[in-house]
Amino acid sequence: MKEELKALVEEATKAIEEKTDLKSLEELRVKYLGKKGKITAFKKNISKLPNEEKPMAGKLINETSREVEKILEKRKEIIKKELLEKKIKEEKIDVTANFDIYETGHFSVINQTMAELEEIFQNMGFDVVEGPEIDTVKNVFDDLNSPKNHPSRSLSDTFYIDEDTLLRPHTSSMQIRVMNEGKLPIKMVSAGRVFRNDEVDATHSPMFHQLECLVVDENASLANLKSTLETFIKEMFGNDMKMRYRPHHFPFTEPSLEVDVTCPSCGGKGCPACSNTGWSMELLGGGMVHPNVLENCGIDSEKYTGFAFGLGVDRIAMVKYGLDDIRLLFDNDKRFIKQF
Ligand SMILES: [Zn+2]
Repeated sequence: MKEELKALVEEATKAIEEKTDLKSLEELRVKYLGKKGKITAFKKNISKLPNEEKPMAGKLINETSREVEKILEKRKEIIKKELLEKKIKEEKIDVTANFDIYETGHFSVINQTMAELEEIFQNMGFDVVEGPEIDTVKNVFDDLNSPKNHPSRSLSDTFYIDEDTLLRPHTSSMQIRVMNEGKLPIKMVSAGRVFRNDEVDATHSPMFHQLECLVVDENASLANLKSTLETFIKEMFGNDMKMRYRPHHFPFTEPSLEVDVTCPSCGGKGCPACSNTGWSMELLGGGMVHPNVLENCGIDSEKYTGFAFGLGVDRIAMVKYGLDDIRLLFDNDKRFIKQF
């Protein structure tokens, strides 16, 4: 039996050394050490041996099993190591391949437009100020002379945090903040995000961008407002862009006006985008600061006058680049974004 087992170990060792994968190695383990394995078979025959030979035979068979087990384990480690090395080799990153996946980003069209607007106004001598997107009802409505029953105050139009705080629905609250600082004269613009409870469609988004302009001085006039607007429109869109004024009503300005510019889709001929009017509507709204607003901020309305306007940055970008859907600005479609 000793000789037979020795021959079996040699046979198994040779077979094991030839294997290069874990599956066939496991098959060998079953072949020799499994329930019906060649070495296991010897154990079953122990009972047939004379009693005095049994302990010795058992010991020999166990030793043989352990020896084969050891050889199997050793081979298993080698195969594992080889497989790992092979895998690492195959997965080695080729630094020259797929170079395009690392792209340099750039400012979004909205941020570019805001920066361009701020630069235009800075060149006209305006200060650029920044303010919070969450503001008080006092700054957003009360001090801006907004009547208690004004529709923009309702829950369905505006996102409230609590009774006294809300996501600002316009940048006009920045007028109040700057006037309350008490430094006169004022010549400022402030751009940023605003929020309204609007359904998303081609021209509406619950989050959009405005730029606010405020001038308060001893002789600020409607003529100053018009010349500021005309300079701005020319700087932004070029000399050919036509504009028109329409009377309007805002609680915080008196008189109030809105400005339209030539429809970018049809150049003024009339098309579905402009409801055949030839005008891109409501690009901005403004007027002379209501005396109540000045007084609310402690400014003598007998001595000082002011003008203010707010414009839609997203609308400006849409007109400038001929976009017909505001959603393009927020969809994060790279094919669109990469054009700017
Ligand atoms: Zn049109």
